[in-house]
Amino acid sequence: MKINRGYRFKLAPTDAQKARMERHARVCRLVYNLALEQRRDHHRQFRRATGKHISYASQAAELTELRAEFDWIREVTQTCQQQALRDLDRAYLNFFSGIADYPGFRRKGVNESFRFQGREVTFRRLNKSWGMAKFPKIGEVRFRWTRDIPGKLKNVTVGLDPLGWHVSFATEQEIEVVARLGPAVGVDRGVVEPVAYSDGTFAAFPKERVKALERRTREAARGLAKCRKGSNRRKVAKARVAALRARMARVRKHFNHVETARLARTFGVVCLEALRIGNMTATAKGTVEEPGKNVAQKAGLNRSILEIGWFQFHLFLAYKMAAAGGEIRLVSAAHTSTTCSCCGTNDKTNRKSQAVYECAGCGSAMNADTNAAVNILLAGTRPAKAKRPRAASRRASRLEASAQAA
Ligand SMILES: [Zn+2]
Repeated sequence: MKINRGYRFKLAPTDAQKARMERHARVCRLVYNLALEQRRDHHRQFRRATGKHISYASQAAELTELRAEFDWIREVTQTCQQQALRDLDRAYLNFFSGIADYPGFRRKGVNESFRFQGREVTFRRLNKSWGMAKFPKIGEVRFRWTRDIPGKLKNVTVGLDPLGWHVSFATEQEIEVVARLGPAVGVDRGVVEPVAYSDGTFAAFPKERVKALERRTREAARGLAKCRKGSNRRKVAKARVAALRARMARVRKHFNHVETARLARTFGVVCLEALRIGNMTATAKGTVEEPGKNVAQKAGLNRSILEIGWFQFHLFLAYKMAAAGGEIRLVSAAHTSTTCSCCGTNDKTNRKSQAVYECAGCGSAMNADTNAAVNILLAGTRPAKAKRPRAASRRASRLEASAQAA
């Protein structure tokens, strides 16, 4: 089986390289925004004049013309600009299939990234802790070598986040998958503990660390609110808030990787709730590193990161289980938290608090999250009549497919 993996490292560019990378990000953003504007505003005229729809191909052809005309566009690698057009194409596809909002313009300070094709970039290891990657029109940039990069290089993304410039190598690897029958487990997103299992255990989520980071982020945000608009202090405070949020996202991402890897090693079947569409549109509005602005306004940033983190947990688990020869089963979330996993009575008054489930029918008392996880396990392993997957899980699998393709 072929699998795709990404390896992300921190870059250490010189000032001249930084300037060239900034230019790449700026021009690619401009190309994306121009192409979006063209699709949005000029679609009808274009069709009347040419009889065709605006497509990736037509926009890529126009890009070539633009490059012949303007030096500053030509100074940036063409494939990076084509990748930006492909991203736009994908954004429209996601919109038309109902899994994302209408594409928005890319913004300075948010979308600072660009992508090369794998064949354009080479890398080598310099010593124990440094590597060197060579990009067209940017040069050889050093990066912190923290792990090996196996497989065939498919594409390479360079991006700036509040913690600095990074490079991600996306590779394709051939692995041998042996289907295996391991034990089954149910997973619930708990209230008191973020992840609860049907065997009565909980994932070792770094709660204290996240709480401390949340508190520092709140303090930094209060400091930011006090700064005068346009002042230098405000700029510094803003960068501080962004860096703290990025660190929080990194902690969560690390947890998701470690925990889903453990599940894939230990279990053959993992049952969990199908994601609701609300959670997924939240993801479409941003990523874990860059939560969408609307999401933050609507629900509070911490909450939105939680939502997005759970989606990321699903994604990581899906590909890791597939690579390990196991499977994930998505079940409907209905009644899993109100039904007694011992006798099957469904009564919402049984849930005495966030933490405690006490069944009035059979008298069993247990942790409410564990009870829900057991219900999810039961629903996922019950011999089922063949039925069409529910709309929610159909959407979830479509989204997973598109996220893997991206
Ligand atoms: Zn009961």
